[in-house]
Amino acid sequence: MVKKKIQLKKKAETKKKGQPKKKVQAKKRKETKFIGKVTKIRQTEPATVIEWPRSLTHVHTYGMLSPFFEGLRKGELRATLCPNKNCPEKRLWIPPRAHCPDCHTEMTWKPLANPVIGKIYTFTEVVYAGTGIELSTPYWQVDVEIPGLATIPKSYLLFGKPFIGMKVKAEFRTKTPSNTVLDYYWVPYEG
Ligand SMILES: [Zn+2]
Repeated sequence: MVKKKIQLKKKAETKKKGQPKKKVQAKKRKETKFIGKVTKIRQTEPATVIEWPRSLTHVHTYGMLSPFFEGLRKGELRATLCPNKNCPEKRLWIPPRAHCPDCHTEMTWKPLANPVIGKIYTFTEVVYAGTGIELSTPYWQVDVEIPGLATIPKSYLLFGKPFIGMKVKAEFRTKTPSNTVLDYYWVPYEG
């Protein structure tokens, strides 16, 4: 309603100033435009069916595990460690745990010194990756034993052919990080 009143007032002012009527008419109409993409018609019989692509953004928090991803961006693997002296588990955890699986104490962070050298415990060739695995296929998924860890984390081999017992070195995608666990991977290590 307010808008309408203002428009009327403007028109009145225009007339008062004696501007040519023609100029006012030439003013481009403000139209509501369609800004979407034209849908593809899949079929028209027995009913019209269109392809209507939709998308969604998954907002995901890393919560207390955020330091792990900060570490990847900086080119370091950060493990968690239980600070409870009475805890039976003295080893490190990767993937990290916010709380100790053995005694439920809040974990502390311990970065692994580079270069991180591990040994392939087992591997598999991934031909059909699941949704969210943004890697070209086929690729080698490798489970790597890292000294001092209670866990055998999964990642992937960037190049080469894996074998059980193969020595590998951790590398990081720090230049164009995906900010996911895919930002670290293994490469063959001679030494
Ligand atoms: Zn513990």
